Amino acid sequence: MPAKSPKPGDLEPIERASRDEIAALQLERLKWSVRHAYDNVPHYRKSFDEKGVHPDDLRTLADLARFPFTTKTDLRDNYPFGLFAVPREKVARVHASSGTTGKPIVVGYTLKDIDTWANLVARSIRAAGGRAGDTCHIAYGYGLFTGGLGAHYGAERLGCTVIPMSGGQTEKQVQLIQDFKPEIIMVTPSYSLVIAEEFERLGVAPEDISLKIGIFGAEPWGQGMRAEIERKLGIDAIDIYGLTEVMGPGVACECIESKDGPVIWEDHFYPEIINPETGEVVADGESGELVFTSLSKEAAPVIRYRTRDLTRLLAPTSRSFRRMDRITGRTDDMLIVRGVNVFPSVIEEQILRDKRLGGNYQIRLTRDGHLDNVEVLCELQRECSGTLSDVTVREIAKELQHHIKTIAGISTKVSILEHESIPRTVTGKARRVIDERPKQV
Ligand code: ADP
Repeated sequence: MPAKSPKPGDLEPIERASRDEIAALQLERLKWSVRHAYDNVPHYRKSFDEKGVHPDDLRTLADLARFPFTTKTDLRDNYPFGLFAVPREKVARVHASSGTTGKPIVVGYTLKDIDTWANLVARSIRAAGGRAGDTCHIAYGYGLFTGGLGAHYGAERLGCTVIPMSGGQTEKQVQLIQDFKPEIIMVTPSYSLVIAEEFERLGVAPEDISLKIGIFGAEPWGQGMRAEIERKLGIDAIDIYGLTEVMGPGVACECIESKDGPVIWEDHFYPEIINPETGEVVADGESGELVFTSLSKEAAPVIRYRTRDLTRLLAPTSRSFRRMDRITGRTDDMLIVRGVNVFPSVIEEQILRDKRLGGNYQIRLTRDGHLDNVEVLCELQRECSGTLSDVTVREIAKELQHHIKTIAGISTKVSILEHESIPRTVTGKARRVIDERPKQV
């Protein structure tokens, strides 16, 4: 339900360029990026050499398929700064995202990278219908997470008045929206519904809320959720996609006039879809795993980064760039809880730090209203079972909860059970994660 109509705005010439012009720019930038990585990052030099490819082999865009992939493991193995392609003094900022172990994945940006990022988020907000002079309320978390600062710099670059609210404190969010009257909100889709419910509770009707546009990302959401958000806040709800390893939010963003999937900013990121089993590139329109190569990043270039996100590439519509379809799933076990990436292995690591706890555990995800809840069920080791006092057991739970919050960044309810309380699977893999959250449609 497009509630309030968008204002006109000019596009950058590249957003309307011919596909030939885009391909020519991509090839020129791709050649630079592949060489930059090879010349300056020992990991890339080694992986290219091992695969028998050299930057000179890249003559057409299709030649990229001969180059090796980069994975989260490569980022982890080179923690913290091993994949940087510029001296540390040239890195103006670092951000981090969850890794598969307690150590995060670290990325860096030169001043020029931050400038490019701001331009791309500004372009995204404009695609979403935002304009210079609008007020933009940012309720993505600030800090190491790319969401808050990424959105912030982009909104400032577009010429918006920025409210750097960050996440949480729902009542205050709503009060500031009522007092400052922003037209735009940038937040996770699930949290936007919590904000909408607070408005409902206060008896504020959607047409009396100043917001016109919401730009939502960091977690999967579907058409059903879009309709609900649009109805409850009286806005146009737009999908923005990104990931830390590739840049942060603003790798792709939907256009308000078509709302038909995020447009990939192909002048800075070259997308491929691969068959996740064979690694073969598949044709546009076919589903598979999304892979990105950065075309302009200086500090932390990525060559064929496997996002693990499953989607497909769609033909251009509102812009000359291709679009991506909704993310239908992932090829790894990463969970997204209230917009935060969580790997079960990180929770497991924290459980096993306590020698009184066994390795048989379960992570249960449920949705309470619009927010995800996580319960971690653990078992005492046989020798501790029935011998520890209730106070000690409560302390174990409290400590584990604290460790998971500190390392994985999520609040959980921890239950410590007696030995052999969690059912064992007789055959095959243990079912560690039980996700009872409703599926997004
Ligand atoms: P972000 O700030 O976008 O959450 P992270 O690096 O923390 O960046 O997480 C990136 C992952 O979040 C993506 O690989 C994808 O799985 C998920 N994600 C981000 N944006 C979206 C979106 N619009 N729709 C679905 N999933 C998304």
